[in-house]
Amino acid sequence: MRYSVTAFLMCLPLLVGSMALAADTKHREAGAHAHGHGKVNIAIEGKQLFIELEAPGADIVGFEHEAKTTDEKAAVKQATADLKNPGNVIELPPSANCKARKADVELHQEPGGDGHGEFHVTYEFQCGNVSKLSQITFSYFERFKNAEELDTSVITSKGAKKFEATRKAPTIQLGGLL
Ligand SMILES: [Zn+2]
Repeated sequence: MRYSVTAFLMCLPLLVGSMALAADTKHREAGAHAHGHGKVNIAIEGKQLFIELEAPGADIVGFEHEAKTTDEKAAVKQATADLKNPGNVIELPPSANCKARKADVELHQEPGGDGHGEFHVTYEFQCGNVSKLSQITFSYFERFKNAEELDTSVITSKGAKKFEATRKAPTIQLGGLL
């Protein structure tokens, strides 16, 4: 089935705007997260797949204060490197032929405080066959043992849906959204 190019172009600024807004809100509410629970936003636009992950530092490295010891600094460095490899977070169907174009990792911490800290990760993929993106598995749970759940929102030109991916059920099904 073909997309309406006009409808797609009309939706794009709205979608990008709402994702930016969500990210901005999250910065201010970094203290509101629950440990074990991360958030994922997924958007599919034409051949492009965007994935945004917000994960508590507790889930990624086991602490949220500024890394001070050698071990803590090494843990942050290793986790950042691992998050830059999308394969440590998601598994996409090979037949969708998605190639990562961008992978950014940022650590957000409240300066000087004992407050929460979060890793913010964004990936962009170009996919040869978006219609084969029938499911996404979060390999994230294998790499990050403290993580229990990912509240996941998916937006495509066909609609939007929320999922709860967990350590026991790490795969979401995108049928009907492609
Ligand atoms: Zn926290």
